[in-house]
Amino acid sequence: MKNILIALMMIAAASTSGCSDPAGVTDRVDGVSPVDTDRFEGVEITIPPLSHDYYLGINSGATHYWHGEDRDTRFVRTGGSYAVTDDPSGTVHPDLLAHSQKMDSGIFVIKDKYYKLYGYGLTSATIIDGDDGLIVLDPMETANRMRIAMAEFRKLTGNKKPVKGILYSHWHMDHFGGVRGLDIIADDVIIVAHDTFMSNVRDNTMGGMGPAIGFRVDYSLGSLLDADSKGRINGGLGPDFLMTELTLIEPNTFVEGHWGTLDLTIAGVNMHFAHIPSESSDEVIVYFEDDNLLWGAEVIQGESYPNLHTIRGTRFRDPQNWYPGIDVMRNYDADILMLSHGRPVVGAEHVEDTLTAYRDAIQFTYDQSVKAINNGATPEDLIRDITLPKHLLAHPWLGNFYGDIRHSAKQVFTGELGWFDGDPTTLDPIHSGDASKRYVELMGGTETVLTAAKKAADAGDYQWAAELATHAIRVDLNNMGPRKFKAKMLRELGYKEPNINWRNWYLTSAAELDGTIDRSRKVDLNAPDIIATYTEGQLLAAMRFNLNAERTANEHYTVAFRFGDKVHAMEIRRSVAEFHDSYSGEPAVTIALTKDLFLGVLMGKVDLANATEEGLIEVSGDASVVPKFFASFDTPTDAPVLTVR
Ligand SMILES: [Zn+2]
Repeated sequence: MKNILIALMMIAAASTSGCSDPAGVTDRVDGVSPVDTDRFEGVEITIPPLSHDYYLGINSGATHYWHGEDRDTRFVRTGGSYAVTDDPSGTVHPDLLAHSQKMDSGIFVIKDKYYKLYGYGLTSATIIDGDDGLIVLDPMETANRMRIAMAEFRKLTGNKKPVKGILYSHWHMDHFGGVRGLDIIADDVIIVAHDTFMSNVRDNTMGGMGPAIGFRVDYSLGSLLDADSKGRINGGLGPDFLMTELTLIEPNTFVEGHWGTLDLTIAGVNMHFAHIPSESSDEVIVYFEDDNLLWGAEVIQGESYPNLHTIRGTRFRDPQNWYPGIDVMRNYDADILMLSHGRPVVGAEHVEDTLTAYRDAIQFTYDQSVKAINNGATPEDLIRDITLPKHLLAHPWLGNFYGDIRHSAKQVFTGELGWFDGDPTTLDPIHSGDASKRYVELMGGTETVLTAAKKAADAGDYQWAAELATHAIRVDLNNMGPRKFKAKMLRELGYKEPNINWRNWYLTSAAELDGTIDRSRKVDLNAPDIIATYTEGQLLAAMRFNLNAERTANEHYTVAFRFGDKVHAMEIRRSVAEFHDSYSGEPAVTIALTKDLFLGVLMGKVDLANATEEGLIEVSGDASVVPKFFASFDTPTDAPVLTVR
């Protein structure tokens, strides 16, 4: 039951790449260690690497994208990087390693007023120095990292002003989870978010798809892997994603309505907040008119192609809702663009170039996918056939480090037409396990299949080798021979991947196959702050997703729950659990208890019978129904199988 409360929330993303490319940029890979030339022979660096040194103009004198001191902007390195920047084993795609080179920790200082705490976590908090206080935009994903970054800010500036304002740009946890690292007294601070922020947090953290997305996050973001050249390299949007101290203080000031705006002055800083539904439905940006500076939240997903779809799982992110939001941002004609992820873009011409390239990439992906679908393309055709035009492919803000056009184009099919590809043999196909047994038999047995798989591997065709091995595994899921072989193939595919989500998934699935997976490192999203925001009714309602349909096939009764003055109920009716927000009927039994006790029962920490005996829980009606009721619900798995099947 613990998992029912699991939170998810994520992060959409994007990555890096370049644009009107100064001569020779694409030929250089600043500071990238030599790699195993075998594995990456012939692999071209397609994106201007724009390493930190290059971007900052320290070594190169480059004037692309960021103009440094001459535009009131400087970067103060505080040392080190949370990203993996060396590849002694030759197992990191050169583009991905170059992406790590952009992520040293430090503080961007713009006009001695705007501070971007960069490279301390997946999200870079922005601090605005007001007359008598600070404003913090997106306080990172975890309180411990926020504390470190804030300490660096205080050290660099000597600024001791209190935090007076905070913005959560949207409900993904990397944009609010570190808020308690700011050391604030909640009542003294204006905390701004969109008016749908809290409902989004709840809808996406408890019950529903929470458990599934929870473990898919581990595969996608690599939380079960070591951070080294054979594991997790960077977070795509930032150097790493580690969330060990997830916190939340509820917002108290809201941007209301679809495309709504809010003008607010905090600590003498004039801010124009605007709702821009895009990567998230509740995304809020800020425009600082006094400095013509646009803070674009995650509408631009850092230095990466946008995660129009996320393979960890999400509902359809409609590209047609996303790029029009960028067009709104273009209309500000800002001189400076700052974001939740990625480095600042300084100079009106560069801001316009970045925004235009980004919206074009999104519209292109959608339009060309629709065109192909209208010509009969299948989802798998889209993965291969839809590629960005050259000028966008080489743009420094459009590398496929986090989002990726491959899985995004495919998702246009699913989002618009659903899963059915049009061939009716896919309506009710032979189950994959059964089909594999038939294939293997037809091919002459497991050994023959493995011999062919090894031959494919020798020829470097790891995908085909892995697909063949899959059939051999399905004949006997416990046969470690083919499992270890497939693990090796997936590692090869992962090492060659520039996209972190794909790489992490290949490598984590490999660990699942060969039995080395360590699930103790699972991201724990059951933060007390998050759980505390749920009402009793929301906790009760979420139970329905765990109903055991067989055990309740012939049952029909209602259990009422009294929490103080409120009475909610759950009606079990022949394999369906209907939640009643308010209930005045005749329940089989009424249970009176507190929210804390109810949570304890749900999480298996409170024994119902004991608590009742001690008078902590009051039961009236047919008491024998109570244990039967709770026994009607199952617990989601703690060790999901995603690959060995
Ligand atoms: Zn984010």
